Amino acid sequence: MPTQNIMDRLEAGETLLMDGGTGSELQRRGVDVLKGATDILKAWSATSNIDNADVVRQVHQDYLRVGADIIISNNFWTTPSAMERIGLRDNWKSYARAAADNAVSARDAGNPGAYVAGGIAAPTLYFRLGIDAPDVEQMGAEAFRAEYVEHAQILADAGADVILAEYVGYIADCVAAVDACAEIGLPVFLGVRHLHQDGKMQFGEDIRDLAAALEGHPVDAVLIMCSNPQAVTAGLPILADAFDGPVGAYPNIGYNPTGPLVNRPQLTNQLPSAGPDILQTSAYPPSALADLAAEWKEMGARIIGGCCATGPEHIMAMRPIVKGNHAR
Ligand SMILES: [Zn+2]
Repeated sequence: MPTQNIMDRLEAGETLLMDGGTGSELQRRGVDVLKGATDILKAWSATSNIDNADVVRQVHQDYLRVGADIIISNNFWTTPSAMERIGLRDNWKSYARAAADNAVSARDAGNPGAYVAGGIAAPTLYFRLGIDAPDVEQMGAEAFRAEYVEHAQILADAGADVILAEYVGYIADCVAAVDACAEIGLPVFLGVRHLHQDGKMQFGEDIRDLAAALEGHPVDAVLIMCSNPQAVTAGLPILADAFDGPVGAYPNIGYNPTGPLVNRPQLTNQLPSAGPDILQTSAYPPSALADLAAEWKEMGARIIGGCCATGPEHIMAMRPIVKGNHAR
């Protein structure tokens, strides 16, 4: 485990490099990340933590090898509410433990000084039920809290350094998620999903209102995640100004996990869809994303990585910019 506390490094002014996409990278390597999916995602790549544990660990190690200071465990939807969608609710803890163990063992083998962020995605019930309301309202406060606390405890017991409540859309869910994650005593990061290109949150809420709502709640860093790079560029200055703590970003670069495969014919587990190519990496090759990382660092980002469709090549290109004393 790392000898330096991650918060000490951030408070000392360091900028940390995060890993890139895990689910999309597993898919790129031939893993079936769409188990049980029909027309919508169900539990995403959760089952790979047991069924393809070696590939998951390899992805983590590849990110460490190119210099990531932080890897995000592949927990994401190893949550009870997501595993329920594929009939595995009773087994969710096995998958959650496996995901945590995969990340911690890869870290210990690849770079013991790196940090494991235990990444728990929001239940995202609107996605399945089509009801536009925060998860915490749909589930009830206690069920929502219990889902996060139990998951965070599994991650802490396995050796995670930080709990990352990620892929959260509504302000109400952001606040409830960080409160729950903080109960187990590790630092808590928040990852806000799907910002629009004008910097608004997924459901039209304002980043400034998010920052105000988080005041007095136990959150140690806020990151914009799984949003396209233009949305990061729009939202990050607002977030950096409004939130009194470290901020960061890990964008997606265009990814339609249920789209037809045009560029990657070796993959066969896609779902039918009229959408565009599955991995739309051409608009943001590694060098382009690295240039954007330099801009985000100047805007105040202290943690920078990638989400869907980014791979080790993107993180490798960002490394000298994020970790160097790079002056533009
Ligand atoms: Zn993503």
